[in-house]
Amino acid sequence: MASTRQVPFFNYRALFESQEAEITAAVTDVMRRGAYILQSDLTEFEAKLAGYLGVKYAYGVADGTNALIIALRAAGIGAGDEVIVPSHTYVASAASIHFAGATPVLVECLDDHMIDPASARQAITKRTKAIMPVQLNGRTADMDAIMKVAVDHDLRVIEDAAQGLGSKFKGRHAGTFGAAGTFSFYPAKLLGCFGDGGGVVTNDDRMGEQLALLRDHGRNSEGEVVAWGTNSRLDNIQAAILNVKFKTFDKDLATRRALAALYDEGLRDLGELLLPPAPGASADHHDVYQNYEIEAERRDGLKKHLEECGVRTIVQFGGKAVHQYTGLGLTGYSLPRTELLYRRALLLPMNTSMVSDDVHYVVECIRSFYGRGR
Ligand SMILES: *Cc1c(COP(=O)(O)O)cnc(C)c1O
Repeated sequence: MASTRQVPFFNYRALFESQEAEITAAVTDVMRRGAYILQSDLTEFEAKLAGYLGVKYAYGVADGTNALIIALRAAGIGAGDEVIVPSHTYVASAASIHFAGATPVLVECLDDHMIDPASARQAITKRTKAIMPVQLNGRTADMDAIMKVAVDHDLRVIEDAAQGLGSKFKGRHAGTFGAAGTFSFYPAKLLGCFGDGGGVVTNDDRMGEQLALLRDHGRNSEGEVVAWGTNSRLDNIQAAILNVKFKTFDKDLATRRALAALYDEGLRDLGELLLPPAPGASADHHDVYQNYEIEAERRDGLKKHLEECGVRTIVQFGGKAVHQYTGLGLTGYSLPRTELLYRRALLLPMNTSMVSDDVHYVVECIRSFYGRGR
């Protein structure tokens, strides 16, 4: 097939171009006011985030990784503790546990690529203090099952919802189930700013107080230092940009779900592929498709074929699960389901700059690879 179309994996420039005037005005306004750190745009964004999720406390922090470190530390997790986390995640999930002073213990994922609750239960030892489910690809794990494991063993739950803002399980938002939930506003995330940014949320009063102290040098609302803290504040400029982006957030998520439905329609009869659950496939899950991660027979060949068609795909996290990064010293793991995933997984283009015809074209290219044109 001649390459008639180009479908980039992500279009960073389009993020700005689509709202250039409004974003420029918002940034200029912040700078004219000289309002850079912990100012009204940040307070406004935190109120919006808390309101959207229906939580008591939301704080903007430096990035999604710092959000996790701060959440773990606020939950009292540190040296000698173990935290259970799926190996199919970004290295930042495990690294945050390491930097909180604890040890990440890696577990399996299920066919929907979310943490396997049975594998989490098996990994519990006397030192286990918390579980970190990762709400990956815009889907929320079966939180009934995870919370049951946590309650049975008296564990804290810290949710890594960096890829999950807006996704729900049984009507409840990702990031709102456990002691704390975290988000990333990296540009390519569901709600992206134009740099690094993150958020951490909780319903717990004590946790809320700890998070506020930790992200601002241990200072309380009077500016007095009452605990050890660090510097991890979401820039006011980024908060102002996020306030603009929040206006179209629901529409953006609807676009992703519509694109996912088109992929599903075009590909679901191909036995060579394992697709993510379709939008509405289960009444319990509301998925928002941060990514569209398929598993494919002859994945490497398919990736190359798509490249020849002008379609850019990526293998998430550099093609390795966390236990496969040999430099981290996480040895002795055998996680067959996760390892199979990394031999077969592929991210198809999925972003709000895409139109239906992009998906139709990608579908056509995939079908031609398997000799299943129509
Ligand atoms: C992006 C991401 C993070 C880290 O967020 P940053 O803002 O890049 O620090 C953590 N966990 C997961 C699953 C992510 O996708």
